[in-house]
Amino acid sequence: MKIKYHKKKNQQTKRTIIHSSSYFYNKQLFAFLIVFIIAVIYLSAFFIYYTPFSPNSVIPETEKNSMKKIPADVKIMLKKQTPIASLSATLHVPILMYHYVEYLQNRTDTERQLLNVNPDIFEKQIETLLADGYTFITAKDLGDIFDGKIPLPTKPVLLTFDDGHWDLDTVVLPILKKYHIKATAYIVPGFIDTNSDSLTTKELQNLIDSGLIDVGAHTVMHVSLKGESLSKAKYEVNTSKTMLEQKYHIHVYSFAYPYGSFDQQTITLVKQVGFTTAASTIPGNNQSPQNRYFLFRVRPGYMTGKALLHYLNQVWPIYKR
Ligand SMILES: [Zn+2]
Repeated sequence: MKIKYHKKKNQQTKRTIIHSSSYFYNKQLFAFLIVFIIAVIYLSAFFIYYTPFSPNSVIPETEKNSMKKIPADVKIMLKKQTPIASLSATLHVPILMYHYVEYLQNRTDTERQLLNVNPDIFEKQIETLLADGYTFITAKDLGDIFDGKIPLPTKPVLLTFDDGHWDLDTVVLPILKKYHIKATAYIVPGFIDTNSDSLTTKELQNLIDSGLIDVGAHTVMHVSLKGESLSKAKYEVNTSKTMLEQKYHIHVYSFAYPYGSFDQQTITLVKQVGFTTAASTIPGNNQSPQNRYFLFRVRPGYMTGKALLHYLNQVWPIYKR
C-alpha cells in the first residue's frame, strides 16, 4: 500500500509539474505575443510617419492641404508698402491650376481623382476659353506685363501645371500643340528621373523644345516653405532655379509654392534670386503687381462652357482673404 501511495503521489507531483510548466509556457507565449504585436504597431506607425522623404511619397496640393489666405506677416508688409485696397485695382487674369491630366488607371486612387482632369474635358476647357476670346499667356509673360515689357493682351488667361507629372509631355503637350497655346509648368527638379510619376529628363527637354512651355520652379524637393529656416528655404528656392537653368540651358522666371505655402521670408528669397512671379493656391482671378509673388489661382475641375466662364468671372472677396 505504501509503495502504491508513493507511486500515486509521484504521478500527481509529475502531473502538477507538467501542468504548471505548460501554464508558465502559455503565459510566456502570451506575453511574447502581446509585446510582439505592440512592437509591430509602434514600428508601423514609426515608418508611416517618419519614413525619410522620398519622391514617391510626395503629397500634391489638394483643396484641403493648401494655403488659401494671405499670411499675416505678408499682409502687414503689404499695408506698409501700399494700401491693401489697391489690391482690388487689378487685372482680370484667371490662372488655372492643374495637377494631372490623364485617364486614370487606378480608380481607387481618390486623391489623384480629385486632382485630375480628363484629357477630353481639358480640351473642352481650352475650346471654351478660345471661343470666349481668351489669350493664353505664361507666368513669365505676366511678369513682363507687370514690368511694362510687353502689352496686356485681350482677355489674358494662364494654364499652370504643378509638380511635373509624366502626363505633361504625353497628354498635355499634344493638346497644347493642337491649339498652339502656351502654358506654365512648375517643375520639381529633384524629382526628374526619380520615379514613374515624374517627367524624365528627355520628356522635360521635349516640353522645352516645343517652345510652348514656360518652365517654372517648384522647389527642389516639393517643400512647404512657410516657417522654414532661412538656409533651407534659400536652398529650395535658389537651387530649384539653378538646377533647371544649368541642366536645360534655359532661364527660369516663374515660381510656385508647394502647398501654396509661403511667408514674407519666402517672398524676399523668391524676389532676390530673380523670379518675376510666384504662384500661390489662394483662390482668385484678379492679379496686380502687389500680388505678383502670390498670384491667385483657380481650380477649373470638370467645368466647361458657361459654367467655366462664369467661374472665371466670379469675384472673390479680397478683404476676407
Ligand atoms: Zn506641388
